[in-house]
Amino acid sequence: MTNTVTAVRRAAWVVAWDESTSQHVYMQDVDIVFSKDGILHVGPAYEGHVDEVIAGASLMVMPGFVNVHCHSGDEPIAKGLFEDVGTAALWGNALYEYSALIDADDDAKAACQTIMLGDLMRSGVTTHLDIASPHSKWLSLAAESGLRAYLAPGFREAQWRMAGSHRLDFEWNKARGRERYAEALAFVDQACTHPSGRIDGVIAPSQIETCSEELIQDAVAEARRRGMRITIHAAQTMAEHEELLRRTGETAPALLERLGVLGPDLILGHCIFLDHHTWTRQRSRDDLARLARSGTSVAHCPVTFARSGMTLESLGAYCRAGVNVGIGTDSYPFNMLEELREALICSRIAGRSVFDLDTGSLVSAATLGGAKALGRSDIGRLAAGAKADLTLVDLSHPAMQPVHDPLRNLIHCAAERAIRDVYVDGDAVVKGHRIVNLDYDGAIRELQDAQKRACRRAEQDDPQGRSLSTLAPYSLPLAVRG
Ligand SMILES: [Zn+2]
Repeated sequence: MTNTVTAVRRAAWVVAWDESTSQHVYMQDVDIVFSKDGILHVGPAYEGHVDEVIAGASLMVMPGFVNVHCHSGDEPIAKGLFEDVGTAALWGNALYEYSALIDADDDAKAACQTIMLGDLMRSGVTTHLDIASPHSKWLSLAAESGLRAYLAPGFREAQWRMAGSHRLDFEWNKARGRERYAEALAFVDQACTHPSGRIDGVIAPSQIETCSEELIQDAVAEARRRGMRITIHAAQTMAEHEELLRRTGETAPALLERLGVLGPDLILGHCIFLDHHTWTRQRSRDDLARLARSGTSVAHCPVTFARSGMTLESLGAYCRAGVNVGIGTDSYPFNMLEELREALICSRIAGRSVFDLDTGSLVSAATLGGAKALGRSDIGRLAAGAKADLTLVDLSHPAMQPVHDPLRNLIHCAAERAIRDVYVDGDAVVKGHRIVNLDYDGAIRELQDAQKRACRRAEQDDPQGRSLSTLAPYSLPLAVRG
């Protein structure tokens, strides 16, 4: 197999890793050289052999983003349905009464995954952690895409049940949950031996409130025996917070601390409603310290929650408390740069200050924070010896002009429009804005029918027997259908 050595010559800007200060720094007018073996050089003119040269005069080279939390399963077909609804009795959240009604069939899951992977890579993601129900193409599509993948088959012992529109109940079936858990273990054991070397498994009890304490402890012990990461949705809604208080009197971090499962190998999905959050009205202020001293990581996905009027308080406060935070995209639109922009805005609104978080710290969370959450020092940074996971940003794009600070332009204005090429392990997965390895357009063509099928099932499954027009009314009255 040939191993092409590629050089970006005299890149106008490079977001490079500075080992001496352990942070990203800007370099200007330097070479970056890489192959399948990794990054060979970042710095002034490279003298060694190269096979391919890319002119860097109008480029910024930056590390690929590490997305620590996304769901390929149903999300692309849930688009446009429930953005304006929520359950008032559950603090306005749409998750339990509405979103949970959408369930893609196996035919649609591969299309949904293809779209997620394509959208992620086009917004500069090179590593992703996908929490989903396994389907027959899950592993092969992740491998074909060329992205670095952490596949997390979710399992749980309880299903959410809504009685009317006011109460969340839990229907427990522990035997079935244990079966799903065994299947998940078998899947991750298979995933981590994939010949691409880019795929690993993650052990994922789906939600803190849908798994028994015993299952969470067993799953964490199995993950630690295998040296795998663990991810759990925790402190993601007020309904969950209130349920945990009702069961144990504890917040999510307090419960997980008592179970002995907090630690640097644990990634908590969302972690919004902690004891300092103004909605929870707790007496204590201990949760951020619990996460920080245990080294537990938080996967922060602001877009989905901000859409429902909720936000973490605040990303800057988590960082100042010493909590490791990575960024994820959770559900659609799977646009990492949109996620970053919203993370910055939400942080400043929740922190009530423009000084709550700066652009450089945010970029670090989306790269180094994610890499640390996954226990890796060879991704999320551009340095000799690291993996060749990187993004070429087109500084000549109108949305990037004029250039004073290209990361600010990218996050505050241009977003994915300026992402030209994306490389993983030295191979292009996006080239000239085009997705190299996936049939993205084919997957898009499947979505309309897949959404119609899912909506018919939602109408059948809704305990209140509501029609789609009641569950998901149009945002404007339909005046004429010609
Ligand atoms: Zn999630």
